[in-house]
Amino acid sequence: MNPEKIGHEKVAIVTLGCEKNLVDSDIMSHLIDDRGYQLVENPEEADVVIVNTCGFIDAAKEESINTILDIAEYKNTGNLKSLIVSGCLTQRYKDELIKEMPEIDGIVGTGDFDQINTIIEDSLAGKKPILVGNPAFSYENVTRKKVKEGTYSTYIKIAEGCDNNCTFCTIPSFRGAFRSRSIESVVREARELADQGVKEVILIAQDLTNYGMDLYGEQALPRLIEEISSVDGIEWIRLHYAYPGYFTDELLDVIAENPKVCKYIDMPLQHSEDHILKKMRRPGRQRDIRQLISKIRKRIPDVAIRTSIIVGFPGETEQDFENLLQFVKEMEFDRLGVFTYSDEEGTPASRLPDHVSQEMKDKRANILMEVQRDISRRRNGRLVGQEIDVLIEKYDGRNDVYVGRSQFDAPEIDGEVFVKNYSGSLGQILKVKVTHSYDFDLAGEVVLIESSQ
Ligand code: SF4
Repeated sequence: MNPEKIGHEKVAIVTLGCEKNLVDSDIMSHLIDDRGYQLVENPEEADVVIVNTCGFIDAAKEESINTILDIAEYKNTGNLKSLIVSGCLTQRYKDELIKEMPEIDGIVGTGDFDQINTIIEDSLAGKKPILVGNPAFSYENVTRKKVKEGTYSTYIKIAEGCDNNCTFCTIPSFRGAFRSRSIESVVREARELADQGVKEVILIAQDLTNYGMDLYGEQALPRLIEEISSVDGIEWIRLHYAYPGYFTDELLDVIAENPKVCKYIDMPLQHSEDHILKKMRRPGRQRDIRQLISKIRKRIPDVAIRTSIIVGFPGETEQDFENLLQFVKEMEFDRLGVFTYSDEEGTPASRLPDHVSQEMKDKRANILMEVQRDISRRRNGRLVGQEIDVLIEKYDGRNDVYVGRSQFDAPEIDGEVFVKNYSGSLGQILKVKVTHSYDFDLAGEVVLIESSQ
């Protein structure tokens, strides 16, 4: 590669895994764009492709490796000159990637991706750069200046890493210890996003509710939310990954009283049975969870609660699963993510006895998801005839319908609202009267256009 030509290549980023990886890809694309490279969507056109991997569980690792191999093919069929791998897989399996995947031209870890331009240059110069250091990247001075045209909702990472050490989880090993960004840094980013037309910001971290403990010696999420809600242009603030152990009354009050905070709580619980929660090293026991959920619903009657459940954890008996089913039927979560236990090497859980077969895990997951489908249909049905606020995000020309989300729906993982009688611009928050409900989605008609222009 002629060094003189370096600097004008086409670069594509392929992002796998969770929203936290999406934020890292955003940060990299801003740095790459700033450097003068040409960002392209389609990896087949690119001279350089960065695969931002996930290394959380087996299925995610497999998807990451297959994606790397697929992209490497473009060296034969496309313009690809350099294949760079970043993200959690590199932090966990750097040595294996170097040894087993000669296709890779550069590797950068979760703590070093702000050096992406150097990695690109060195990889194009054939130096096979490897930069995988301590996963303690500080997001303090990183603000993403660029979001794609027509982005009305996006994620803000307010902290990274985790100090909880659940026995099935590898994240602390490759994302490092918990570290918060300052309130000033987060608010600055919210302001920059609002200036670009973003209406909804979704606050994310591995453990959102622990925000500020390391920096201010107190759980500062309520204070942060109040500060963000004073940013003009931001209409909705959504919270993801609340850890049940740190869910304070003060936070509940802010969610209940601040009109900009979506009445939506995403709180992974992982299981219902005390002996399983204990083996998972999760906070609280079933009694505490029930008390917390009923307190939340009393304080915010129309709140939508999302949780995640792992089935097939080592030692989970048929009776445990029956109890879990009964618990889910009683609690009636509005949204539920179901995962099968993934046996991750090096975790305490992988050394436990009585592992459950994959076949049984899949069977239990399917049963639980069917139970949840009924619950979701029933809870959605309650909204028919009601007026809800809907953020209109796209127009579906094939069905001639506008598509949006209510404050009860997070992007990608929850339902949508289909709106027929509207012809205005996207990015508006409309008052919609719900006319139909489905298993996960809703349909309705515009009542009033909220003047958030
Ligand atoms: S709180 Fe989440 S990220 Fe932290 S150890 Fe537990 S499962 Fe992993």
